[in-house]
Amino acid sequence: MGKSIFVDLTRCTGCRGCQVACKQWKNLPGEETRNTGSHQNPPDLSFDTIRLVRFTEARVDGKLEWLFFPEQCRHCYQPPCVRVADDFANGALKHDPETGAVYTGPSIMELGGKKIQAIRESCPYDIPRSRKDGKGLAKCDFCLDRIRAGMKPACVLACPTGTMVFGEEEYMLELAGKRLKEVRKRYPKAYLGDPGNVRVIYLYQTDHRLYYQDPLD
Ligand code: SF4
Ligand code: SF4
Repeated sequence: MGKSIFVDLTRCTGCRGCQVACKQWKNLPGEETRNTGSHQNPPDLSFDTIRLVRFTEARVDGKLEWLFFPEQCRHCYQPPCVRVADDFANGALKHDPETGAVYTGPSIMELGGKKIQAIRESCPYDIPRSRKDGKGLAKCDFCLDRIRAGMKPACVLACPTGTMVFGEEEYMLELAGKRLKEVRKRYPKAYLGDPGNVRVIYLYQTDHRLYYQDPLD
């Protein structure tokens, strides 16, 4: 039930079209940033950057590879962030029963300090980010406004390589399984990240910890 996004990372070219489309649709400001030694820019997610393409150079089976990781909220089936936020303010984070989207409510901006820290720490993927003054949280909302109007999320629509596909959860899981079989012919260690637990299903060609720093490590 609900919607999902399948992300085949073996197709991602790191063009950042999804990152820019997200900023445009959400009317989010650009950020002054700095060179951190890679093409990744800005260096991390923030209150104003809720989707980010991570760039990593990694040695995969003895070969140097460039790994690209379009990072966003995974829209967990049982989102711990919503459970924790509910203890502090009703509706601070919401879980849409129809699509499965997890999104912020206005009362999130009234929270700060340890409450916001507790919500952030509940996320196993280190996704939500607070404002510079430590108040409130921002995260991807699955483009719920677009989905409800029958459109794809802005990032999916912008992707020129077919890395991201959006649709009904059962079809996305089926597609992910099919693609995994194909990709394994080339990358035998490929696998799917947490299918059945999250609505943004990544197909990794190798260990996900090579794509990004896992907060649980
Ligand atoms: Fe919440 Fe994090 Fe799951 Fe997104 S990935 S729904 S922010 S717990
Ligand atoms: Fe990768 Fe598609 Fe995003 Fe470009 S738009 S960085 S190909 S996911």
